[in-house]
Amino acid sequence: MGSAEAAEAGPADEGATLLSLSGVEHDWMQEGLCTRRPDIDFFPGKGRRAAAAKVVCQQCSVQLPCLDYAIANEIVDGVWGGLSPQERSTIILRRRRARAAGE
Ligand code: SF4
Repeated sequence: MGSAEAAEAGPADEGATLLSLSGVEHDWMQEGLCTRRPDIDFFPGKGRRAAAAKVVCQQCSVQLPCLDYAIANEIVDGVWGGLSPQERSTIILRRRRARAAGE
């Protein structure tokens, strides 16, 4: 899923997972613990707690590729790689500034 598609994803339906929302499937996505945890909301929306999803991510074997993917594609919704959209935005902005500064 490219950044434009990801940005258009918008607030997810309850029970949505990165796999169900992603137009592109990567091998690591099949390994995501979230695919086996429909009881956990990975797209809690503004003002709702993401703690339960983050706990699952911490136990997931593909946390790093998931986080890399979400940051690289600037996905603005949901918990990916154990980080909330706000937390990923901080990283994305820092990377943009570093690129602009020629680092
Ligand atoms: S890190 Fe979290 S969101 Fe990513 S695949 Fe694993 S459980 Fe799913």
